[in-house]
Amino acid sequence: SGYLESAHKTFERIEKSKLNAFITLNKAQALETAQAVDEGKVTGRLAGITVAIKDCITTKGLQTTCGSKILQGYIPPFDAEVVARLRKEGAVITGKANMDEFAMGTSTENSAYGPTRNPWDLTRVPGGSSGGSAAAVAGLESRMSLGTDTGGSVRCPAAFCGVVGIKPTYGLVSRYGVVAYANSLEQVGPIARNVGDAALLLDVIAGGDPKDSTSVAEADKVCYTDYLKEDVKGLTIGVPKEYFSEGMDKKVERAVWDGIQKLAELGADYKEISLPTTKYALSAYYIIAMCEASSNLARFDGLRYGLRTGKDENWHTTFSRIRAEGFGPEVKRRIMLGTYALSEGYYGKYYLKALQIRTLIRNDFANAFKDVDVIAAPTMPTPAFKIGEKADDPLSMYLADVNTLPVNLAGVPSISIPCGFAGKLPIGMQLIGDLFAEPLLIQTAYTFE
Ligand code: GLN
Repeated sequence: SGYLESAHKTFERIEKSKLNAFITLNKAQALETAQAVDEGKVTGRLAGITVAIKDCITTKGLQTTCGSKILQGYIPPFDAEVVARLRKEGAVITGKANMDEFAMGTSTENSAYGPTRNPWDLTRVPGGSSGGSAAAVAGLESRMSLGTDTGGSVRCPAAFCGVVGIKPTYGLVSRYGVVAYANSLEQVGPIARNVGDAALLLDVIAGGDPKDSTSVAEADKVCYTDYLKEDVKGLTIGVPKEYFSEGMDKKVERAVWDGIQKLAELGADYKEISLPTTKYALSAYYIIAMCEASSNLARFDGLRYGLRTGKDENWHTTFSRIRAEGFGPEVKRRIMLGTYALSEGYYGKYYLKALQIRTLIRNDFANAFKDVDVIAAPTMPTPAFKIGEKADDPLSMYLADVNTLPVNLAGVPSISIPCGFAGKLPIGMQLIGDLFAEPLLIQTAYTFE
């Protein structure tokens, strides 16, 4: 009992908040669910627990904008599979979390609904693209949240906001009802204040789904919360030298090494390893992601849903006008670059090459995991940067993703956990595992609780 009262308090906090973590609130329905939990009418593993949902994850009857003006007013007639699973377990859905438009970004500044602020320092970004999801959890505006991670978008904001974020193995979680940015890379992932909550949320959302042909049933036979035990004895931790790049912040480097040291004190071994094709990951990722985005975003024409401006003349002017007005600059940049890279004559030069690099990166990880159990590295090369600092320089924004992108290209899982501070700014360390090694990652991460 007491869930209704606590939900009320959460909404009071949200309504007074300076974070701008939400685009749309789900207050009436959330309070109704919390009350039903108090009355014993709703039960489940998440009964009464507040969860924020990234706004690119479809929610029945609740506006879903993807942080874009083009989808303003779009109210989906169905739930994403992950949302259906949350509801079945009695979760109290607080609202739709702010994000970079269509998940394109590393700071949540690319939202048509204004930037989200970092709860540790309001002048700084919360990371992105799931910045609203991480800020809501760190700012006590929801106990847990869902983000999506195409190239770091769960782990980056988790690191910048001092919370835990998991990017699951590709296929572990259904993408049904997740608005696609780059299908071959993305996964929905949990964000929470501790590893226990993250494991519980993963347990609820993971599992095979006939509505997503890329999903696998692997999770159906695993209970992730069974691995909340402190035992790292005999594990070998690999520390990839390529993930400690030159431009990296010294405090981040130190905090991550402190984390590795802690694992060593508890009985793990560590050694330096090399993932030699890491240097090509950024270029390959941005080509693949932009190609997929240019194709996926063709469906947003304003005719089927969302923004409709002025009077219709002919198909071409209506279509172009709506897209010109509805998409922000970063989305337009990516549609154009992706279309270019896929066009005849360039396809082999860019897209095909990027796919070949992707295989090399996957092989790097496969080789590494013959030798080590878990890879430890900084999640981000720096702590949270200032709002506006990189906003006019897309390349420097892309560069911030160097350590997170390879994981998505390889399809492997990774968890970001807090490992220290630079001043008042939290620092995140990521633990990367082989395909479906979530249990081992959760167990290793639990050491830090
Ligand atoms: N920053 C990366 C990008 O903009 C990753 C985003 C994401 O994971 N959705 O593509």
